[in-house]
Amino acid sequence: MKKCDVGIIGATGMVGQRFITLLENHPWFNIKVLAASTRSAGKKYSDALGGRWCMDSALSEKIANMHVYDADGDKEKIAGMVSFVFCAVDMPKDEIKKLEEAYAKLECPVISNNSANRGTPDVPMIVPEINPEHAKVIDVQRKRLGTKRGFIAVKSNCSLQSYVPAMHPLMQKYEIDSALACTYQAISGAGKTFERWPEMVDNVIPFIGGEEEKSEQEPLKIWGKVTENGIENAAAPVITAQCLRVAASNGHMAAVFIKFKDKKPSKEEILNIWKEYSGVPQKLNLPSAPEQFLHYFEEENRPQTKLDRDNEHGMAINIGRLREDKIFDYKFVCLSHNTLRGAAGGAVLLAELLYAQGYMD
Ligand code: NAP
Repeated sequence: MKKCDVGIIGATGMVGQRFITLLENHPWFNIKVLAASTRSAGKKYSDALGGRWCMDSALSEKIANMHVYDADGDKEKIAGMVSFVFCAVDMPKDEIKKLEEAYAKLECPVISNNSANRGTPDVPMIVPEINPEHAKVIDVQRKRLGTKRGFIAVKSNCSLQSYVPAMHPLMQKYEIDSALACTYQAISGAGKTFERWPEMVDNVIPFIGGEEEKSEQEPLKIWGKVTENGIENAAAPVITAQCLRVAASNGHMAAVFIKFKDKKPSKEEILNIWKEYSGVPQKLNLPSAPEQFLHYFEEENRPQTKLDRDNEHGMAINIGRLREDKIFDYKFVCLSHNTLRGAAGGAVLLAELLYAQGYMD
C-alpha cells in the first residue's frame, strides 16, 4: 500500500517531536514536510532544534537532515506536497486560527492539537472512542469555508483525556448529574522539561492558565450533538475542575468524583462497563488504537504516573481506586499520557479514523 504524505506544522516543539516519533514508522502515513516558525525555517531539522530534542528515542539521521519549511510563508508549497497536516504550534490563538483556516482553504485538511478552533461550532473535537460521529460536521464546515477537501478537526485538551473516557461509558446507561475533577498535570503539558523549568523540581504550582475552563467546558462539546449549524453542546453533566502542575515529566493524573442523577450503578456494574467498553478505533483496528481502551487496576496504589502512563504505547486510559463517596456517589483516579493520548497520539488516532472513513480522499 502506498503511504499517504503528511506534514507536521510546529515540528520542532514538544508535541511536534512526538508526532515525529509516532509517524516515522507509521504503516499508513509518511512524513514528507516539517515546518515551524521563521526562526527555524530554511535550516536542517537538527540545526533548527538546537539541542531541544527531548524524546526517549534517538533522532534519526533521516529526520535530522530534513529541511524545515516556514509554516506560514511556505503554506501553498506545503499544501501542494502533502495530503494533510498535523498542527501543534505555540502562537496567539487568532494567528493559529488564521493559519489553520488558510491550510484548510488550500484544500489541505488540518488535524490540530491547538485549542484555537476547539470552540468553533463546525470544527469537530473528537476523542475517537467517544464521539467519532462528530466527523459528520465536516460537511457543514466545508460549506462555510467553501472547500471540497479542506477542513480542520481537533483533539481536545489533554487534562480531560482521563476522566471523560471513564465517565462516557457510564453515561450510555446512566445519567451523571455532576462531576468534580482535580488534575495533577505533568510539565511536558507546558512543552517543558525539568532542565528548561528548574522551578518545577520538588514543586507543585496550583495554577495552569485557562486549563480549568477547558476541563469543564470541552467535555460538553464532546458530548454534544451534530446539527446543521455545527455541534450543539450538551447541557450536562456539570463539571468543576481544579488543575495543578506537579513535578512529573509526563502523564496527567486526575482524582474524580461523580454523582448520578436518579439511578446509580453498583461498583461491580461500573467495573464491568469499563471492561466491556470499546469504540470505533478498536472495531476498525486502527494502527494507534489501544486493544483495551480502559484499564482498571485492582491494586490500591495504581495507576501510578511513572509506572502506567506508557500502557498500550501511552494510548490506554488507566483507572483505579473506585469506591463509594460520602458526598458524591463514587470516586476514583485516572491517568493518561498527556503528549501521547492527550496530544500527538490522540491526533494520529483521529487522523487514522478520518482517513479510514475517506475524509482525506
Ligand atoms: P512548544 O514545545 O513550545 O513548540 C511550539 C512550536 O510552535 C515550535 O515548533 C515552534 O517553532 C512553533 N511556533 C512558534 N511560533 C510560531 C510561528 N509564529 N509560526 C509557526 N510556528 C511557530 O509547544 P508544544 O508543547 O509542542 O505545544 C504546541 C501546541 O500544542 C500548543 O498549542 C499547546 O497548547 C498544544 N498542546 C500541547 C500539549 C502538551 O502536552 N505539550 C498537549 C495538548 C496540546 P520554533 O521552534 O521555530 O519556534
